[in-house]
Amino acid sequence: MSAVASLKAPFFDSVLIANRGEIALRIQRACRQLGLRSIMVCSEADRDAPYRETADEFVCIGPSPAAQSYLNRDAVLAAAVTTGAGAIHPGYGFLSENAAFADAVEALGLTFIGPRASEIRMMGDKIAAKQAMMAAGVPCVPGPDTALSEDLAEVANVAETIGYPVIVKAAGGGGGRGMRVVSSAHELAGAVIVTREEARRAFGKPELYIEKFLQHPRHVEIQVLCDNYGQGIWLGARDCSMQRRHQKVIEEAPAPSIPADVVARIGDRCVAACKQIGYRGVGTFEFLYEDNEFYFIEMNTRLQVEHPVTEMTSGIDIVREQLRVAQGYQLELSQADVGCFGHSLECRINAEDPFTFAASPGLISAISLPGGPGVRVDTHVGPGYKVPPQYDSMIAKLIVHAPTRDQAITRMRVALSEMRVEGIATNIALHRAIFEDPSFCRGGTDIHHLEKWLAERR
Ligand code: ADP
Repeated sequence: MSAVASLKAPFFDSVLIANRGEIALRIQRACRQLGLRSIMVCSEADRDAPYRETADEFVCIGPSPAAQSYLNRDAVLAAAVTTGAGAIHPGYGFLSENAAFADAVEALGLTFIGPRASEIRMMGDKIAAKQAMMAAGVPCVPGPDTALSEDLAEVANVAETIGYPVIVKAAGGGGGRGMRVVSSAHELAGAVIVTREEARRAFGKPELYIEKFLQHPRHVEIQVLCDNYGQGIWLGARDCSMQRRHQKVIEEAPAPSIPADVVARIGDRCVAACKQIGYRGVGTFEFLYEDNEFYFIEMNTRLQVEHPVTEMTSGIDIVREQLRVAQGYQLELSQADVGCFGHSLECRINAEDPFTFAASPGLISAISLPGGPGVRVDTHVGPGYKVPPQYDSMIAKLIVHAPTRDQAITRMRVALSEMRVEGIATNIALHRAIFEDPSFCRGGTDIHHLEKWLAERR
């Protein structure tokens, strides 16, 4: 009898949601639809969060600074134990990719809704991740899958073999920090020394690696979903090339003008890699895509902000499926059940000045949200909501879906014209302007496009 057939009861029937904002509400909705008890935690700044009303339990775990609440492992675990939670969903950010936290959750006999700690740890070390991906046949950026030698002459030889420009990256880096582009041999030694020191200070890990610097890539990623029994599927590709300072601003699915068979090939590779490393839950393989080739850069071992565009094109509720596989159910979908229908776009609506990007927390005095066919808004805010200054500035995700990319763009323009937020500044005006940019509207712009476009407008 298989492990699945012997599953007498799901592993849990209550979930502590260790996050805040729109994603906390998104996860709460999925829990409620599955009949799971939702236990929400909050910091003092989020005591009046609107999702409090619909939570089964709502527990304050500490003061406003994230380090003392959402990032405080002991406080989250204590809340889980006292409320009798059976599982913890970490959402994204905060503790979601913290292997020690995942270990601590499971040590208490609770389910961590995510992969095993060993896979989180592996993907958190970019050298280990690259080694695992190369071994699984996932294409990586040219360059060795080993840490850089301390010997600068040896490093120079490696760089020469790869060919300039190269990029020196910290194995423990994240959030776009701990990397340096080197365009010629005479800059190399300095870049290695500075980046190593930065890596030691910022990530407590001095290991570096080096790879080819791709000059005009797009950011294309593959969403995967795996169960506990070695089954896995990929749900499509997303293009997240519209970035500012390595932060995604607009995401879409599918990735424009990449042939379906090319996407399918890389998707199958990602699933094969998941099977090889025993991955479970949802995850995202991030690639740079240039001249019709994919190059793996990292894997995110959690739910991502941009998951809705894949939900819209696949028709699959990713958070529901994530909860179901974590409960111990076998994946009900096979690869043949997964399609890609129409086109979806997502704008991240941030509480910030649309052109200086200065944060703009404070009271939302009035808000009107767009609607109509193919329009979805994932948000926890409403009129009278006070955007706290302590956290990420994203207040909403505006998502549209339509049969074609052009129709989705039109739908987004209308939705953006309907959306009003008063009392604080938002980047809605920036999105309206981007949706008039002919290059973006044609599709397929690279990861530098948005910054160049912004610089030209200054
Ligand atoms: P992080 O974990 O800090 O986000 P990534 O490895 O995902 O680091 O890289 C972040 C961004 O840096 C990428 O989206 C891309 O813009 C740029 N980048 C990283 N590696 C390369 C490379 N080899 N060539 C060109 N750009 C790169």
